[in-house]
Amino acid sequence: MDPPPRAWRSELARLALVLAPAGAAGWLAGAPLAAPLAAMVLWSGYILHRLRRLERDAADRRRTLFDKAEKSSTDLEIGIVMVDEDGNLEWCNRTGEDLLGLRRSEDRGRSVTSLVRDPLFVEYFDGGRYAEPLKFSAPGSVNRVLECRIALYGERGRLMVVRDITRLHRLEQMRTDFVGNVSHELGTPITVIKGYLEAIMANMEDLDEKWRRPARQMHQQSLRMKNLVNDLLLLSSLETQSLSGRQGRIELSVLISEIQHETQHVFDSKGHALSIHCRRDIRLIGDRKEIYSALSNLVNNAAKYTPRDGTIAIKAYFSGPFFDIEVIDNGIGIESRHIPRLTERFYRIDAGRSSETGSTGLGLAIVKHVLARHGAELEIDSDLGRGSRFVCRFPVDRIEVDAEGVDGPSERDR
Ligand code: ADP
Repeated sequence: MDPPPRAWRSELARLALVLAPAGAAGWLAGAPLAAPLAAMVLWSGYILHRLRRLERDAADRRRTLFDKAEKSSTDLEIGIVMVDEDGNLEWCNRTGEDLLGLRRSEDRGRSVTSLVRDPLFVEYFDGGRYAEPLKFSAPGSVNRVLECRIALYGERGRLMVVRDITRLHRLEQMRTDFVGNVSHELGTPITVIKGYLEAIMANMEDLDEKWRRPARQMHQQSLRMKNLVNDLLLLSSLETQSLSGRQGRIELSVLISEIQHETQHVFDSKGHALSIHCRRDIRLIGDRKEIYSALSNLVNNAAKYTPRDGTIAIKAYFSGPFFDIEVIDNGIGIESRHIPRLTERFYRIDAGRSSETGSTGLGLAIVKHVLARHGAELEIDSDLGRGSRFVCRFPVDRIEVDAEGVDGPSERDR
């Protein structure tokens, strides 16, 4: 145990208690210096012996603590790896050794990225962005999936926490496959039903009066089912397919014009005014189909959730280290308590209205997924009864400004 803060005082008192009788005895025996000196030597030996014991106890206690930490982390099957400021292995527990194929004593001092060479891991480790965990294959076993989280400690040390998520990953994959397969299988029957209902709608006058309303409702619901299946298929492809290889340079103003064209009939039918502010020399690097789907969802929502004669704007502009594409409406707005949950699948504020609007509750989930795949984020601001603002915030490295400037910036640009 550490000596109490006032230990030196009692030590001094004890020394005095030893020296005083030794001095007296020495004086009586005619050796006034030799006796206290001998007592001092003995006393120093005793102090050294106590210091040694103290040090040994402290080391034992440290080792016990370490053993306990190691045992509990191993029991929990969590790999713990400590990395020094130069990225070299300092220590790891047994599960860490097992999961990452490390050897604690031999590998100590070696660079972690030379020990775990998976390119995904190396990029993550060197990238320094640890807000989200990394999923990667265990070294030497592609069927084993690991999750790694990194936290910084001390000056520049890193603490890695690694766990085996193979089972979780498999379940997640089964869920995704199941949703994908069911949606795919439902596609054909729904198309057939919808086709017949469309034919019936086109010949409504041949239909008995009492069947006209049910036929109209069936047609409306078949449209909704088709939308649902399409959205589910899109979500499952977003979850299963990687983005790389399908990316290109998207002329943003052209893409927005296409969306405007596609939604024009909705805007016309509700008397909405749409304004667009986007430079014509902007190229966004990404998957055109996905970006189209995300922006189109936002524009359709703005039209859908804005009462007649509303005003909707699409603006695209540089904002510090970001490039923002925002869709603003002066519609019904959203109560703040709903905002954090809007991007959840099937989350709708007014589920009762979804059959009228053909809503699926999947639109914003798709937007969030698409943006995340492009390193972007969705920000939502809204005032109940006044309108909403949905901002797609892209990192600027996804943007290229065309030096030739196609047609130069449009006059409405910011
Ligand atoms: P939905 O298919 O129901 O539109 P979304 O995922 O696109 O599904 O949107 C989820 C919910 O968010 C909607 O049901 C609606 O309540 C709300 N919402 C989305 N966009 C807007 C908007 N521009 N104004 C008001 N509410 C909105």
